[in-house]
Amino acid sequence: MNILILGGGGREHALAWAVKQNPKCDRLIVAPGNAGIGAIAELAAIEPTDAAAVLACVEENAIDFVIVGPEAPLAAGVADALRAAGILTFGPSAEAAKLEASKAFTKEVCDACGAPTAAWARFSDAAAAKDYVRAQGAPIVVKADGLAAGKGVIVAMTLDEALDGIDEIFGGAFGAAGAEVVIEEFMAGEEASFFILSDGTDVLPVGTAQDHKRVGDGDTGPNTGGMGAYSPAPVLTAAIQEQVLSEIVRPTIAEMAARGTPFQGVLYAGLMIENGRARLVEYNVRFGDPECQVLMLRLGAQALDLLLACAEGRLAEVKAQWADDHALTVVMAAKGYPGPYVKGSEIRGLADLPEDSARMVFHAGTALKDGKVLATGGRVLNVTARGATLKEAQERAYAMVDRIDWPEGFCRRDIGWRAL
Ligand code: ATP
Repeated sequence: MNILILGGGGREHALAWAVKQNPKCDRLIVAPGNAGIGAIAELAAIEPTDAAAVLACVEENAIDFVIVGPEAPLAAGVADALRAAGILTFGPSAEAAKLEASKAFTKEVCDACGAPTAAWARFSDAAAAKDYVRAQGAPIVVKADGLAAGKGVIVAMTLDEALDGIDEIFGGAFGAAGAEVVIEEFMAGEEASFFILSDGTDVLPVGTAQDHKRVGDGDTGPNTGGMGAYSPAPVLTAAIQEQVLSEIVRPTIAEMAARGTPFQGVLYAGLMIENGRARLVEYNVRFGDPECQVLMLRLGAQALDLLLACAEGRLAEVKAQWADDHALTVVMAAKGYPGPYVKGSEIRGLADLPEDSARMVFHAGTALKDGKVLATGGRVLNVTARGATLKEAQERAYAMVDRIDWPEGFCRRDIGWRAL
């Protein structure tokens, strides 16, 4: 079959790498892709949120199956447009994607189905929000309702931080995403992510992971899109996974179906675990980046069969085969990230790295120019390895990092420390 993947980051490189190994895949096109993806797939220079351009690409290339990587095209209704045109598509409708695109929507769904999450309230004016925060006290969490690329959340340890956060959001710092503010009880505990496919009715877990959001070793410094991740997440024990499926995920899927907006795609549950129980922090409606990289390295070619079964409503018929192994990814970023950084520096040494089913460098922000691999983004490479133990995966990943010649880049040296 001919397959189109929408997106151009490390997540999509990992998806393309897994899909490409499956004999069912004939042609693979990724739009827009990057230098690493270009080595294993055809690239199409189209914007994933541009439904008309995506449909034209599908028609021109006789695409049988579309996998949507990032959230923006999902929230923009690209999966709806594809399905309306009769194209088999992996990824939720815009209505179901509100589980990520609106925090207040997710909280309403949780309340309706009884899923455990932080107590919350929503406000559309600053004075009422501030009165509520003063009454609740700190610590407390202030969030812009809509999508803000991870920047619309203020975990306020003091009342002043919370009040300033309210002013910032209503002051327009996040544009339309901040038209409403959600205020939540602060949850203590350890965070982990659980990835579950759903075809609208059935669910199939496809792995757990934990990431490192802070830029510096020891989880210090400013927040980023993620500096590394590992799978599985030891804190998500089998018993807690079962609790999450029965109390959070299955009720959510049933509630979405009952509302007439079934969820089809991957549900990424961000969880807070305390005293052996999980509560929901947030949902995302696509694979995490860089979590997808460790999940795909562990799943390999079967990932395509699972995504197809999900899109075709056959999830009850399939099972994920797990090796008893671990995977870890180290993000290499341009110096300066997450602040201003220089673009266009050359990365050397990639061609000499041994890449196989246990070792892969997924590209996040690269482009090929005159035969050279250039860094084009903040997060640039995802150096990913598998091992019998997490320690082995970590050693393999850093052994590859040390062979990459890129003086303008940096990475954390301690990815996985919490679990080790
Ligand atoms: P954005 O919408 O800006 O893209 P996001 O979707 O990443 O942000 P959340 O996942 O809801 O936003 O919150 C970001 C982080 O803030 C979480 O990963 C968690 O560390 C912290 N956080 C969010 N809500 C709470 C809470 N109720 N208690 C404690 N920490 C929280």
